[in-house]
Amino acid sequence: MRPKYTPCDSTASLFDGKVCTRCKTWNPNSNYKKYPRNTSDGLFSHCRKCDNKNRVESRARHLDVSRAYGKLRYQREMADPIAKAKIRADSTVKSRRYCQRIGNMYQHCKGKNPEAFMLKKRIARHKYRELVRNAEGSFTAAQWLEVKALYGDACLSCGSTQSISIDHVVPLSKGGRNDISNIQPLCLTCNKRKSSKTIDYRPKLIDV
Ligand SMILES: [Zn+2]
Ligand SMILES: [Zn+2]
Repeated sequence: MRPKYTPCDSTASLFDGKVCTRCKTWNPNSNYKKYPRNTSDGLFSHCRKCDNKNRVESRARHLDVSRAYGKLRYQREMADPIAKAKIRADSTVKSRRYCQRIGNMYQHCKGKNPEAFMLKKRIARHKYRELVRNAEGSFTAAQWLEVKALYGDACLSCGSTQSISIDHVVPLSKGGRNDISNIQPLCLTCNKRKSSKTIDYRPKLIDV
């Protein structure tokens, strides 16, 4: 049903405005959004503030509902071994595709403004070296090669065998140690995506 709009006061001139139907305060016309269809004054009956508030609230409401549905579906699929295997396989493919996309973006930025790109890279490298210097612990190249070989010289997240890099499970920026016990092999793209989060991709070993 189409809502009714009260016609505005035609005597108003300099201080054109009206009372918002929601918050009941007077606002100048500039505080009202244009209504897409013809109304007496071509404006919404509630002010921008109320409109934004409404949008935020309804978005939160819908998010809750969709999250609840997602959770239910996930539980249902995890209970079914065939569906579970399919999801696992899908997520690997998706992760690989994501890596590809990020890689393309990286190349694109590099091509657009190479100088700015290199400068940014240099600053990042400098910051990283400083973090390594200040971190506790150390490991040798041989130890790193050993860990990398243990996981088949592949990224623990997406399984790629290209551009494998050293990743700190607990990032150095979060006070993680620079020990081999805090190191896992990730490809550059997965490493970037993980950024400063703490995610342990290493398979859990059962203590004997
Ligand atoms: Zn209002
Ligand atoms: Zn990866």
